[in-house]
Formats: sequence, C-alpha cells, structure tokens
Amino acid sequence: MVEIRDRFIGCLLGLAVGDALGSRLEGYTPEAVKRSNLEMPEFLDGLWRWSRGRWTDDTKMAVALAESIVNSGGFNPKQAAKKYLEWYKSGDLRGIGNVTQQSLLNLQSGASWKNSGIKADWAAGNGTAMRVAPIGLLDMNNLEKLRRDAGDDAVITHNNHEAINGSLAVAFAVARLAKGDLDLGYLINETVDFIEPSEVLLRLEIAQKLLEQGTSAEYSLADIGTGGYVVETVASSFFCFMSSPDSYETAVFNAIRGGNDTDTTAAITGALSGTYLGFEGIPLKWREEVEDASIIEELATLIYGMATKTND
Ligand SMILES: [Mg+2]
Repeated sequence: MVEIRDRFIGCLLGLAVGDALGSRLEGYTPEAVKRSNLEMPEFLDGLWRWSRGRWTDDTKMAVALAESIVNSGGFNPKQAAKKYLEWYKSGDLRGIGNVTQQSLLNLQSGASWKNSGIKADWAAGNGTAMRVAPIGLLDMNNLEKLRRDAGDDAVITHNNHEAINGSLAVAFAVARLAKGDLDLGYLINETVDFIEPSEVLLRLEIAQKLLEQGTSAEYSLADIGTGGYVVETVASSFFCFMSSPDSYETAVFNAIRGGNDTDTTAAITGALSGTYLGFEGIPLKWREEVEDASIIEELATLIYGMATKTND
C-alpha cells in the first residue's frame, strides 16, 4: 500500500519528469517521433539526456500554483493570479501558450482574476489542465471545494467551458488517486460523473471504450488526438495512464510517442501515474535529477499537511 504522502510527492514529481521528458519533442508529429525507432529505455534515456531534466511552462505554472497554495494557507484565486503574473514578469516563459499570455497581459493591465481569462471558443487549450494537479491534492477530502477551486483557477486564464472541465477532470482524478481507495477500473466513470456535459466528457468516454477494447496506445492516441486542445490532451493522458497503470515509464513513453503536445500529455500522464504509484514508481535517477526536485518535493509535502489537516 502506497502512503498518501508518497502519492502527493509522486504527483508533482511525476508531472515535472513527464514534462521534462516530453519537452524535447513538442510539436513533432507521431510519425516523426517514431522515426527514432528506439526501444523504450533508450528512447527515454535519450530524451532525459537531451532535456537534462529541465521542464517547461506546465511545471512552472503548477509550481507557481503550489507555492501560492502554501503561501496563502489554501487556494486563493487572487493570490494564484498574482503568482502567475510574477512568473510572467520574470520572463522565464518556457513555451507559454497564447491564451495564458494574453490573459496574463490582462492581469498586468489591472483586470481582476475573474475578468482576466480569455472568454472565447478558441480558449479551449490545455493550459489549465496541465497546472491544476496541486488543487487535486489540496482538496482530496473535499470534492465540492475541489470543483470550486479548479474552476476558479481555470478562469484566471481560460474562461472556457472545455478548459474548465479539463481542469475538473484532472483535479478530480488526482484527488481520487491520491486518496488511494479507488477501484482503478472506475476512474473514468467517476470522472465523467463528476464533470459537466462537455466535449472533454465525450472524449473521455471514447478513451474508456478504447481501453475496454484493448486498443493499442498508438491507434488510440491517433483516434483521441494529442494536440493542445484540452479535449484531446485530457483523454489521451487518461488513456496512457490507465493502459499502463503499473509502469510510469510505459505511460509517459506512450504519451510522448503520440506526438504533438508531448510535454503536456506526458506531464498530465506523469502526474496521474506518479499519484497512483507514489514517488517510488518514478525511476530514482529522474526524480533526483529533475530541475528543482527538492523544492517540488517540499511543496508536495506541505500541501499534504494542509490536505490531511482539514480532515481532522
Ligand atoms: Mg510546456
């Protein structure tokens, strides 16, 4: 039985390691990714050497959110928005998405966190689902608070129904996996029951069907999609985790082999897998060498203290 604290650490380190591994192939088509023809260990080792454990905006934003939670004694959207803006002003943007950039510019011009997010059909990117994991951890024992917090966090940048539901799906799954009392076969069913009617929901149901049919990751991800559209990213990430629940490496390998938005698909897959397996499920070398490993571990431990205290 994996300790809950180890799941919290596994979640954030799993996200960071997945992001770093996926970062070098962002934007490559699945065909181009597969051209390397390497077996899994060599393929992942090569990516690790290439990235040197350095992650991108996905982890930057998740760490900013985690820091704001720790500093504020809980989730406060105003403080989270302030942290995101601080990051933006630092200039260390690492592949920031367009919607996030525009909304942070709105914040910089004085908009409140409720009004800064882009409200448009095209604001359905994965920029909120990729960062929401710390809220899933924090609200593990209070799923209605999780619903409110994940929604409030999303609208800071993406005031879009699909983006919000993508965040809800990831936060919910992280919470259920962190708690550790879930029959894994029901994860997608429970997630679908929790979120609102949406394209995210419909695509998760397709992922579930592909899992039940035992369809290969290669075919399934081509069917679901692996672009920056949150509907594709969330369902593909769930598929990669659920099709290889006992192997962090296989889950992120499949996510990266799907091509396109490889860093974000691997980051969310890595967060789900790391939560389920605990940090020891992530190869030692990666979790030790990943950028800011000790800071990430400390943030996860502090959020663990907050999440379990509210349950007393
Ligand atoms: Mg990125």
